[in-house]
Amino acid sequence: MTDIKENLKKVHERVVKAADLAGRDPREITVMAVTKRHPVAVIRQAIAAGQRHFGENFLQEAVDKIDQLGPGPVWHFIGQVQSNKTRRIAQSFSWVHTVDRVKIAQRLSEHRPPELGPLNICLQIKLAEEAGKGGIDPNQIDSVWRKLDQLPGIRVRGLMCIPPPSLDPKQQRHYFSQLQELFKLNGDDSWDTLSMGMSGDLESAVAEGATIVRVGTAIFGPRPN
Ligand SMILES: *Cc1c(COP(=O)(O)O)cnc(C)c1O
Repeated sequence: MTDIKENLKKVHERVVKAADLAGRDPREITVMAVTKRHPVAVIRQAIAAGQRHFGENFLQEAVDKIDQLGPGPVWHFIGQVQSNKTRRIAQSFSWVHTVDRVKIAQRLSEHRPPELGPLNICLQIKLAEEAGKGGIDPNQIDSVWRKLDQLPGIRVRGLMCIPPPSLDPKQQRHYFSQLQELFKLNGDDSWDTLSMGMSGDLESAVAEGATIVRVGTAIFGPRPN
């Protein structure tokens, strides 16, 4: 059986070690536990172990879990956003990391219930040509952000990427450093989030400035089918 509490501890130790090596304060870095395809019982174990931030990719699956678990966890949407799903996403999540079109952002803003405060969003950036993966072209970031900055229902917090998977730390850091450069080039004081790094490359991401790492397998083991 997967020892979720022990795995969470190990992931936090990896983050602390990587932060130390980079001369960063580990408290700047949030571990988001990615729970796609894992059942509610597993999420409850993580909550019992003190985990607060959770990421989900598929709306219907996520909404069922969110309803069952009730208040407490902070939910991050990290899947592809379809425009007919923006209402439920804006109602159920605190963060959306995968905004890659102005139209999606406009709809999320429009559908965000005002009493919840603005929805936190990250712009998903495309750093390499890969079939089936979304993302804003790096040279479009500024013009997209200018349009989003006006929207009352969302708050742009920074950038997110899902680079091509690689086992080579040099290759991993290549993409993460690009995202950090784009963050510095385009952002202002209102940006505080670099969402990058997963189970296999979180050290590289922390070395390049990640503030949220999205970790599934290293906490929960392989995903059920
Ligand atoms: C599934 C997923 C993760 C977690 O990946 P692991 O390799 O299991 O840690 C992180 N980010 C996104 C966008 C994902 O879809």
